[in-house]
Amino acid sequence: MKIRKRILPRVASDLGAFLFVLLIIPVTYCFELFIVLPALHSVWSFWYTLHFICATYVMVNVTSNFVAVVVVDTSLQNIVTASSQPENWRYCTECETVAPPRSWHCDTCKTCILKRDHHCMFTGCCVGHYNYRYFYMFLLYVFIGTFYSTYLNCFYIWKNFEHFSLLGITKFIFPMAMLVLGVDATEKQVCLLIFIINFVGAIFTLVLLVHHTSLVCKGMVTHEKSKNITYYDSGLKKNLSQTFGKRWHISWLFPFVASELPNDGTDWNDLQKTD
Ligand SMILES: [Zn+2]
Ligand SMILES: [Zn+2]
Repeated sequence: MKIRKRILPRVASDLGAFLFVLLIIPVTYCFELFIVLPALHSVWSFWYTLHFICATYVMVNVTSNFVAVVVVDTSLQNIVTASSQPENWRYCTECETVAPPRSWHCDTCKTCILKRDHHCMFTGCCVGHYNYRYFYMFLLYVFIGTFYSTYLNCFYIWKNFEHFSLLGITKFIFPMAMLVLGVDATEKQVCLLIFIINFVGAIFTLVLLVHHTSLVCKGMVTHEKSKNITYYDSGLKKNLSQTFGKRWHISWLFPFVASELPNDGTDWNDLQKTD
């Protein structure tokens, strides 16, 4: 596994999204464990401890998969490419080298990416052959985490907030505006803002998760789906191992679980359509 040398995002919009993720993960985790849960259950009671273990497991997976997406190099750089131009390979004028099928040049990363899916602004890098597994699991665990937080926050907010006044409803819908305008800059308003961020995050990641689950099951990347290229669909089991590695059935437990990919990201000729 190759590690990227430059891990900070290259453009301002990516850097903003990247810093937002770095901030919101620990803020949400601490908010749930130290403010929401103690309001619902006695500290270190059975239910508090169970939530503590589950939340920590999710948080470790969110964080470690995020780090893996960022640091794992899935570019064509440092890969020994053929001196001649093999069949189906193309010449990238930006990288000045031949590049294999399914690779695409990224103008932001300034390199060709193996089995490129897309450039992710939240991680500030491209998602491709070697880091797609971690990206998918990052999405999955962010969805679980935001959905879980929203579930707990609903009980907390119902217990602690005014519900039916016009100002109360406005505060609930526009927490950031209320904070910035100084209408209400209290701790409660910060709680509402975290609730809204997690609620929106759950919907956003659910949409992405549905999209990427469809891609994984069909053995496609986003570009191939838009062009309806089905050539690399090898059947569900092979498609899963092409993304999550040979130990795909346990690879979801942690990103630290070794699961070697069956393909080096350059040679796609041996993929057989099996159904
Ligand atoms: Zn290139
Ligand atoms: Zn990129």
